[in-house]
Amino acid sequence: MSILNADLHCHSVVSDGTLEPEALAARAAANGVELWALTDHDEIGGQQRAAAAARSHGMRYLTGTEISVTFAGETVHIVGLGFAADDAGMQRGLRETRGGRGERAREIAAGLAQVGIKDAYDGALRYVGNPELISRTHFARFLVETGVCKDTNEVFRRYLTEGKPGFVPHRWASLKDAVQWITDAGGAAVIAHPARYKLTANEEYALFSEFKAHGGRGVEVVTGSHTAAEYVKYAETAKEFGLAASRGSDFHSPDESHTDLGRLPYLPGGLTPVWELLADRIQ
Ligand code: AMP
Ligand code: MN
Ligand code: MN
Ligand code: MN
Repeated sequence: MSILNADLHCHSVVSDGTLEPEALAARAAANGVELWALTDHDEIGGQQRAAAAARSHGMRYLTGTEISVTFAGETVHIVGLGFAADDAGMQRGLRETRGGRGERAREIAAGLAQVGIKDAYDGALRYVGNPELISRTHFARFLVETGVCKDTNEVFRRYLTEGKPGFVPHRWASLKDAVQWITDAGGAAVIAHPARYKLTANEEYALFSEFKAHGGRGVEVVTGSHTAAEYVKYAETAKEFGLAASRGSDFHSPDESHTDLGRLPYLPGGLTPVWELLADRIQ
């Protein structure tokens, strides 16, 4: 059924969110979420805590993660839902994907130093909850805190995106591997916020076709990153490629995220909700 307050995308301090898994669960429950997933970037270290907290609030739970993938030279995010969190292949794949983040962070800091922003590596580290998961978001928080920019959006625009001084090209997992890790662990792979990528129409078509060919099952239709027009567009894309639809806020922080947990329109009708494919994986 589409009329379910499912929120299957958000981040805790285990990646680049600012709340502990327990605080996120409490907030989701208070906002009326019925089915929840914590989807930290490239990391599943918060899964047990999230599942236990969900249970204590009477929410149903699906395991989750958001894997960083390089496709057509762009970073694309693949959400995994309902996999076995103790799967060895999944754990190894995520560990490999996290692997280059420390080195990349040093290079980001070096780029920022060239434009006069000193000590950004140590500065960003102060915001990091998980030493294996230093992300651009932590640099963004540091630059806001030190008054270089007024908000994290401005940091990304001026410093952390392609062509800017703190941008470091990075090679993440392959699309095929990410889909396979999730699928082999019994879960469903879902293309996260497709409207966010700077892909040409042909590249986007290739992304969906290859994703489907590798065994991908779903696409985020209703997300905090999409406009209402994009809900309609990707509902059509889901039907075109025979993919199920997902819904998630992508909540990171009460101070930064414009979409709160569970506060999204329901999925449009005529789609298969991804949680219907995962009925036997719901905890
Ligand atoms: P990373 O995985 O280190 O490349 O960091 C990517 C993260 O940066 C995303 O998951 C978002 O949380 C955040 N991000 C990306 N673009 C923006 C933006 N324009 N404004 C604020 N946060 C952003
Ligand atoms: Mn993030
Ligand atoms: Mn993402
Ligand atoms: Mn996300």
